[in-house]
Amino acid sequence: KAKALGKNRYQFCTEDIARALDLRNQIEQALEQALDHNGFHLVFMPIYDLTIMQPTGAEVLIRCPALAEMGISPEQFIPIAEATGQIKRIDLWVLERALQILQEMNAVPAFEHFYLAINISAVELHNKQFTRQVSELLSKYQTNPAQLELELTETSLANDDPDSLHTLTQLTELGLTLSLDDFGTGYTAFTQLASYPVSALKIDRSFTAVIGDRSATKQPMVDIILSLAKLYQLDVVAEGVESQQQLDYLQQRGCHRAQGYFLCQPIDKDALLQTLSTTA
Ligand code: C2E
Ligand code: MG
Ligand code: MG
Ligand code: MG
Repeated sequence: KAKALGKNRYQFCTEDIARALDLRNQIEQALEQALDHNGFHLVFMPIYDLTIMQPTGAEVLIRCPALAEMGISPEQFIPIAEATGQIKRIDLWVLERALQILQEMNAVPAFEHFYLAINISAVELHNKQFTRQVSELLSKYQTNPAQLELELTETSLANDDPDSLHTLTQLTELGLTLSLDDFGTGYTAFTQLASYPVSALKIDRSFTAVIGDRSATKQPMVDIILSLAKLYQLDVVAEGVESQQQLDYLQQRGCHRAQGYFLCQPIDKDALLQTLSTTA
């Protein structure tokens, strides 16, 4: 009897694995389709300067309708694109499209200083072509590099290798800025912050979510990150602001910038321009 159970369990596992591989293949194929046939688009999440309570920039987020229909979000497909190598084409597509939009926006004088923050995969830190590609696209769209911020996850810097640091330095030499995304969830030795050429920390939304929740063990993280930023003279962006209470707390403690559903949902390009012209 035990043997039969064991065999069943074994079959159950292989079926599970087979299903997972099948889904992974489906996602890879959908990504390939999207890359070849213009199947991605961008949405924008305004980032508010908390001293003036107005958006001065926006984070760019990728969307893939074909995958969304299958219930697959960027959080699920980006890691697969990283594993298959498709991420390089995706990152370049996002960058080019974003710079195109910046150029369009710059035609309106009021938007001249508006910046876009783009998520860049950790893969790019080991991609020898990346800096040159960014540089070429900045020229092609005549972008003021100060209007471009690249977001890297904290975990992508975890191994602290010379290659990554070299790429980061080269990127900042182009005149753009770098921020550390999902800060607090990775393993940055705080003392290393001084040696990275980053200008901002993005507080992970799991820490914003527990503001005011005294029973949560994560509760002091927002304060810790704000203190660190002060110590290392870095800008701070709070992610995932979903309530007035969270916004008040961050503002009182001198957090520079914030984004989140309470401030504004991710919106398309036209809605972004609309929002900006009403707040400008
Ligand atoms: P992220 O860079 O940390 O992006 C923030 C994610 O949190 C976004 O999810 C956004 O929609 C969501 N979010 C923002 N504010 C709130 C809020 O107030 N409440 C809640 N519950 N969620 C909020 P999204 O768009 O699904 O992106 C997930 C992740 O996928 C991103 O995390 C980023 O790591 C990656 N990603 C998204 N777009 C791109 C891209 O163009 N290129 C690359 N390489 N990665 C991307
Ligand atoms: Mg981000
Ligand atoms: Mg984040
Ligand atoms: Mg993230």
